[in-house]
Amino acid sequence: MKLLVATNNQGKLKEFNEILGELGIECVSLRDMGISVDVEETGTTFLENALLKAKEIYNIAKIPTISDDSGLLVDALNGEPGVYSARYAGEPSDDNRNMDKLLANLKDKKKRTARFKSVIAAVFSEEDILVSEGECEGVIIEEKRGENGFGYDPIFYVEALGKTFAEMTDAEKNSLSHRGRAIRNLKDQLETKEY
Ligand code: IMP
Repeated sequence: MKLLVATNNQGKLKEFNEILGELGIECVSLRDMGISVDVEETGTTFLENALLKAKEIYNIAKIPTISDDSGLLVDALNGEPGVYSARYAGEPSDDNRNMDKLLANLKDKKKRTARFKSVIAAVFSEEDILVSEGECEGVIIEEKRGENGFGYDPIFYVEALGKTFAEMTDAEKNSLSHRGRAIRNLKDQLETKEY
């Protein structure tokens, strides 16, 4: 089966292919399908945004489509930046400015726990939709560490490996990241699904 992943991010596509490829599923990107639309993420939850995007792209492509929406939730900031993670410091989105704003807002805060959350919506038809979620717990450190990854990776520290996301290899990050967990959860659901 061919699955359209509503993204042009090659890193994400690779991660989907590595995990869902084990089921014989081939994941393709928007660019691969010749689709160029920018779906506005107007929802107030990850689920709303993931559904919005997957449904809209499904209606254009008419093949099974998945979309993921993710972000960082910081406890001391009541779950901010949440669904606004990409544009926390305004638009256009800028990873360094987002991290600097977060570090400034957490200055002098003792509680620095946070989690990344990813929600995936998989649309097979108007009525046939699967949803999966994944989370990864961590701590926001005071200075950026590491060169890999994107977004808030340099300030998100995971105790289990003693590294920030940006200090991990792709394989390390995928083994415990919110998105890796959400994709594996989707894979489990697809294993028992007829399509
Ligand atoms: P998206 O829904 O995957 O586009 O993610 C929205 C925003 O959340 C990104 O622009 C990042 O700021 C942040 N984010 C999501 N996943 C990650 C991650 O794995 N590492 C760092 N930042 C992330």
